[in-house]
Amino acid sequence: MKFFIILIIYLSQIYAVQVGNGKSIVLVTNSCQGGIYDHNRPLPFLPHPNNDSHGFVILPIDYHATLEKREIQWYTPDTNLTLDLDIVQAPYPTETLSVDSTKVTPPPQTLERIAAEKAEAELIYNTTTPKRYWSNPFIRPIDSNTTSEYGSQRTYNGILKSYHGGVDFRARTPLPILSSNDGVVVLAKDRYYSGGTVIIDHGEGLYTCYFHFSRLDVNVGDIVSRGQTIGLSGATGRITGPHLHFAIMIHGIQTDPVDLLTQLNKLFGEQVVF
Ligand SMILES: [Zn+2]
Repeated sequence: MKFFIILIIYLSQIYAVQVGNGKSIVLVTNSCQGGIYDHNRPLPFLPHPNNDSHGFVILPIDYHATLEKREIQWYTPDTNLTLDLDIVQAPYPTETLSVDSTKVTPPPQTLERIAAEKAEAELIYNTTTPKRYWSNPFIRPIDSNTTSEYGSQRTYNGILKSYHGGVDFRARTPLPILSSNDGVVVLAKDRYYSGGTVIIDHGEGLYTCYFHFSRLDVNVGDIVSRGQTIGLSGATGRITGPHLHFAIMIHGIQTDPVDLLTQLNKLFGEQVVF
């Protein structure tokens, strides 16, 4: 009977979760068997990086997710449970930015390029490499202050409304940018909006993205280590000034990189911060 009561308390703590739009939930389980269904998509529990008997799963919440209560199905070999999810508006600031007008109203001759770059990125982000490349905590790609956080509601040149899909780090002069963790380079090129761009596949549907480089030091297919220099920061693409834009994609969804990588690092101990 005592065991039963403890179990109920455990369930009531774990199975109702409030989360902001654009954030991620990292669920840790005491087994690697089973997983969750998110909108009918199975997300299996993955081996915990720091505890052989445990598993974990990342549930990303889209920035544009409907603010609602919804149920996530949690399955194991023996049972099916329900996770009550309460998606609420995260407190994001607003920003007004001035950029080159061609980056707000692109010239007709650039539209084909922009569409091709978008399709190329979507193909990458929706590909899940089954292997995990990383086995240590994630590090910041640059030792610098953040100048704009993820999720800011932005207005460009008083016309274009968008949200900030990553976090900006101060980099007034070209500075070496480091790979946040071990992985494989899946994109390294100049793009219309993001300028000099590197995307690294860390496996299991997780990608880190680095924008606005003045110099690329890696090529597609390169295996990179955590802390390896992948390029120099710059002021290319749609920018107000030189900086590093750092973003993540997880299971095809762009969530707050500081939020998710902080949670992933806690798998290595509460003190391991991103
Ligand atoms: Zn940015």
